[in-house]
Amino acid sequence: MNKAESERIGSSLEQQGYQATATAEDADFIVLNSCVVRQSAENRVINKLNALKPVKKPYPGITLAVTGCLVNSHTDQLKQRFPQVDYFLKPGDYPQWLEKESKLRPVLPQHPSPSTFVTIIQGCNNFCSYCIVPYRRGRERSRPIAEIADEVTELVHYGVKEVTLLGQNVDSYGRDLPDQPDLADLLHKLHTIDGLARIRFLTNHPKDMSHKLIEAVAELDKICQQINLPVQSGDNDILRAMRRGYTVEDYRRLIRQIRDKIDGVALSTDIIVGFPSETEQQFQQTVNLLSELRFDTVHVAAYSPRSGTTAAREFEDNIPPAEKKARLIRIEQLQERIAAEINAQLLGRTVAILVEGRKKGKWRGRTKTGKLVFFNDNNNCLGQLVKIRIEKTSPWALQGKVETGSND
Ligand code: SAH
Ligand code: SF4
Repeated sequence: MNKAESERIGSSLEQQGYQATATAEDADFIVLNSCVVRQSAENRVINKLNALKPVKKPYPGITLAVTGCLVNSHTDQLKQRFPQVDYFLKPGDYPQWLEKESKLRPVLPQHPSPSTFVTIIQGCNNFCSYCIVPYRRGRERSRPIAEIADEVTELVHYGVKEVTLLGQNVDSYGRDLPDQPDLADLLHKLHTIDGLARIRFLTNHPKDMSHKLIEAVAELDKICQQINLPVQSGDNDILRAMRRGYTVEDYRRLIRQIRDKIDGVALSTDIIVGFPSETEQQFQQTVNLLSELRFDTVHVAAYSPRSGTTAAREFEDNIPPAEKKARLIRIEQLQERIAAEINAQLLGRTVAILVEGRKKGKWRGRTKTGKLVFFNDNNNCLGQLVKIRIEKTSPWALQGKVETGSND
C-alpha cells in the first residue's frame, strides 16, 4: 500500500512540474512515506528524518513533508520531536492536502508501468491485538465500484495491463457502501474492461474470505490464480491472543476449498514468530502447518510490540530477540526448501508472463500465479504477454527462453 501511495505522490508532483532528483540534497520538495508496522521500520524512518536535518538546515527553502503510518493524531508532539518537518499528513491524506495547497487534483500515474496498484478500501476494522494499522489508517472506507472502474479504465487507456487491488482486508470491501457490493461484484465489473489483461488483489482475511469470491476467481479468466491469506500462527491459543477470529481448523478448511476450486492456485501467507509467551511447542505447530500446507511464499516477521495496541498493553514481550531470530530463520529455511520444490515443478514447462520491466539487461515479468520470471530478448517486450519455456528455477525466481512456434 505504501508503494502504491508513493507512486501516486510521485506522479502528482510530476504533473505539477516537479522532477525526481537523484539525492535528497538536490530536492526542493521531499516527501517521506513512512511505515511503522514493526519497530525496525519505524527506526528506519527516524534515521532518515535525522539524516535529513542537515540537508534541511542550510536551505530553508526545502519543504519536507512526512506521510504514512508514523503520523498519528498527535501532530503537535511530532512537530516538537521533528522540527525539520514542515507538514505531517496522515496516511491517505496526501490527495486532499494537495488539492487544498495547490488547487490541483491528484492524478493518475503519467507513465504507469504495465502493472500497477489500485487501492479499493482504506483502513481496517479488525484490531488484531499486535497491529498498529487500524490506529493509524482509521476505519474501513471503500471506494464505490463505479469510481474504481473509471480509474482502471483510464489506467488501461494509459497502457496498464494488470491491476493489483489493494486493501488491508479486501474481503471487507463494500460493507460500508450503500448497496453493500462485495469484492466478487467488483471483480465481475472490472473483468468487463477491454484491454485489461490481469487482475490481482491483496490481502484476504481468513475469517472473511467468501465462497462467492473463490467462485469468481475460478470463473473469471482475467483474475490471477494467486491468493495471499495470512495465517500468522499455527497454534489456536496464539491465534486467540492475536484476536484473528479463526482457528487452524477453519484455516485448513478454507485452503482446501480454495485449492479444490481454483486450478493451480499459488498461495502465500504471513507469519509472526515470537508472539508473547509463544512456546517452542506452539511455534512447532506453525512449522507443522507450513510443512503440511506448502505455500508458494511465506512472509515471516518477528513480533514487535507496537505502542497503543492491546498486545503491547496486555502481554510482556518475553521471547528473547535471539530466540525470535532463530525461529524466523527456521521458518525461512523450511520455506526455502518448499519453494524450491514447488518451483522446480515448472522446469521445462511453458508459462505466460506479462512483461513488467527490465533488470540487469533481462526482461522481467510474472506468471498468473505471481512467479517472477527473467528472460533475454532483443525486442521491446514491455507490456507484452509472452510465452516462456522455463529452463532454470530457484526458490525466488525462474528463468527461461521465449517459446517460438508453440500455440499452447
Ligand atoms: N492486513 C494484512 C496485513 C497487515 S500488516 C493482514 O491482516 O495480514 C502486514 C504484516 O505485518 C502482517 O501480516 C503481520 O504478519 C506483520 N505484522 C503486523 N504487525 C506486526 C507486529 N506488531 N510485529 C510483527 N509483525 C507484524
Ligand atoms: Fe492489522 Fe489485522 Fe487489520 Fe491486517 S487485519 S491490518 S493484521 S488489524
